Amino acid sequence: MKKWVAIFLSLVLAVCWLIPGGLAEGSEAAGDNETETAAPRGKVVVLATGGTIAGVGDPGKVTGYKPGTLTAEILLWGVPEIDEVADIEAIQVCNVNSDDMTAEIWLTLAETINRMADDPEVKGFVITHGTDTMEETAYFLNLTLKTDKPVVLTGAMRPSTALSADGPLNLYEAVCLAASEEAVGQGVLIVFSDRIYAARSMSKTSTYSVMAISAGEVGSIGIMRDGIVHLYESPSRKHTLASEFDVSGLDTLPKVSVLYFSVDADPGLLRYAAEHSDGLVIAGAGAGEFSLEWIDIINSLTIPVVISSRINDGIITKDNLLCKNTIAANTLSPQKAAILLRLALAKDPEISQDSLEELFLQY
Ligand code: ASP
Repeated sequence: MKKWVAIFLSLVLAVCWLIPGGLAEGSEAAGDNETETAAPRGKVVVLATGGTIAGVGDPGKVTGYKPGTLTAEILLWGVPEIDEVADIEAIQVCNVNSDDMTAEIWLTLAETINRMADDPEVKGFVITHGTDTMEETAYFLNLTLKTDKPVVLTGAMRPSTALSADGPLNLYEAVCLAASEEAVGQGVLIVFSDRIYAARSMSKTSTYSVMAISAGEVGSIGIMRDGIVHLYESPSRKHTLASEFDVSGLDTLPKVSVLYFSVDADPGLLRYAAEHSDGLVIAGAGAGEFSLEWIDIINSLTIPVVISSRINDGIITKDNLLCKNTIAANTLSPQKAAILLRLALAKDPEISQDSLEELFLQY
């Protein structure tokens, strides 16, 4: 008799486990009744694009790896603590070294986030990204997303197979920040090595350190500790909902070339770039300066030319400019000035110098 009871119980258990969700659904339903008043967890959408965070190489090594190898699912599987923070939807947008990022991928990211942000269940977004061009993607999205929901970029300096890989903690902190109330309305944020940065001021400043991201004179705007957000500042330049740039319907952006001035830099580069671009950004020396030879050629150009600096910190104002037909990048780095110029030209290919000057004071 005992034998038959045992067989019967085994069968019941087997059926419960075999019918997908059988037991689980039962216990969830019971749980639902018990937690009727609990706030909904909400969903965080993780958009994976590649980079070192998804890199794989020789076990323990920090160089010689292949970035953009692991999928979003595997990255998330490596950080089970994320399950306690939010429901996750993972989307593999691409899986590239971020030096292969393109305007087309930016436009896909903007379209996806703008569309999914309308879903009331979605609390925020995380984008995993290579650190090399993270600042460009962050600034582009900061100017083109039409949502005040948190959007947080993160990445890693050590591949997933390195000793003390930094990706898992960065990813965990990014999800916590994206699920938080504190991050609402702050524009696009970056979380890296426990620090929170605003998209406009953040840049990569080390080729190797896990503290590879910083924000120069402006500094980070907050700190993450054990998933808790400590935010101290808000970005003051226009972004997201206050931005006038709408990229919906675009499938590419105008071409803007960035030129780097150095002693004896070939002025022929300027002519070539001007012939093949819709606009130029020049990373000048000091407060945006260059040689007399370059001044002559720039004075003759008819496309918009924005002057930034090859120096990380500091400001360039109208008074610094050597050529009257140029626009001061203010505190934007050359690569970020190029994004603002591309968006301005996408909005109005015939934009006037005065209007461009105004944009560089506002964004
Ligand atoms: N080359 C890598 C990338 O930008 C570097 C990194 O992710 O840290 O994709």
